[in-house]
Amino acid sequence: MKPYLKRAWAEVSLSQLRKNVEIIKSLNSGNTKVMAVVKADAYGHGDAHIVRCLAQDCGINYFAVSNLDEAIAVRNFAPAAEILILGYTPPEYANEISMYNIIQGVVSTEYAEALAKNTPASIRCHIKIDTGMGRIGLKHDTPAQCADEIAEMMKIKKLSVEGIYTHFAVADSDAPDNIAYTDKQEKFILDTYDELASRGINLRHCHFMNSAATCYRNNSRSTLSRAGIILYGLHPDISLDIPEGLEPVMELKAVISHVKTVNKGDCISYGRTFTADREMRIATVTIGYADGYSRLLSGKGDILVHGKRCRIVGRVCMDQLMMDVSDVPEAKSGDIVTMIGRDGDDIITADELASLYGTIGYEIVCGISKRVPRIYID
Ligand SMILES: *Cc1c(COP(=O)(O)O)cnc(C)c1O
Repeated sequence: MKPYLKRAWAEVSLSQLRKNVEIIKSLNSGNTKVMAVVKADAYGHGDAHIVRCLAQDCGINYFAVSNLDEAIAVRNFAPAAEILILGYTPPEYANEISMYNIIQGVVSTEYAEALAKNTPASIRCHIKIDTGMGRIGLKHDTPAQCADEIAEMMKIKKLSVEGIYTHFAVADSDAPDNIAYTDKQEKFILDTYDELASRGINLRHCHFMNSAATCYRNNSRSTLSRAGIILYGLHPDISLDIPEGLEPVMELKAVISHVKTVNKGDCISYGRTFTADREMRIATVTIGYADGYSRLLSGKGDILVHGKRCRIVGRVCMDQLMMDVSDVPEAKSGDIVTMIGRDGDDIITADELASLYGTIGYEIVCGISKRVPRIYID
């Protein structure tokens, strides 16, 4: 028996990943290259296999991560890739950034100077502009003022500025005021780029598309599309469809450890939140909140058993949970069940689970814990 079949595991389909990449490439114009966002262990999918597949099989040469540790990991999996750190690196690590030939996102003049001070080598960077996300980046009232600061930053010795970028706050919404907001963000970064160009500063990169923008407002002037969630086949926002063919890459499975019949009046799990109102068949499953299957799904989540939906009953425990298999008489100890994924004609997605307790699919896949082995299939 394969060791992972004992308990809970995630199956990651590299062939589906490759299909998703092909679709994302087809959304982009020829000027735009895919920058695969593989932060947070490739959104919980496992960066080693995901990055190797993207680099070797899909020809992806640009990767984005959140920190230096992730960047160094990607450097090992894709020795020739361009790697951008979107988040903060303490300036004390400037030398490592140079050594591993990483590109750092730079959020202020002060930060750029601190980086330059901490390394004898040159530091490659893309300058982040805050055009409305309100998180990090240069913030100015006009593109001309923004260009002024960038032009000054470019004089910092050892700082090699290769591009500018910004991040959209509401590109995943089709509400008219949100579309107008994103229009303004996009115009600001493009005007800043053009202003620099008019002063003779021609940067190689200007990028602003995330997954949502890649799907809903693809713009050939973005040199990169920083695709995260759609690589993994999930929705930037559950309320908007994503292009045909983009499908989830990961499934989450576990096994039934025990099946029993309970009587009317019997209680299930901690807190006695569930009491059987009739004779029922209850199955115990080998997954719990320590695996990243949230306790907030207690009494709410469905699990696919032999292609049929079974409702969780009572509280999700740390390592186990119980479900009602009264309508699936063939369910027995040792059967494989599906928390996320397809079984027969039905499918449960991370996006669906997320909507049951007020979060997004991103948090579900990132939250599948280290205890759950990732198994790669083709
Ligand atoms: C995480 C992140 C992305 C990717 O976002 P998705 O919605 O997953 O495509 C792109 N750009 C920045 C700056 C990010 O932090």
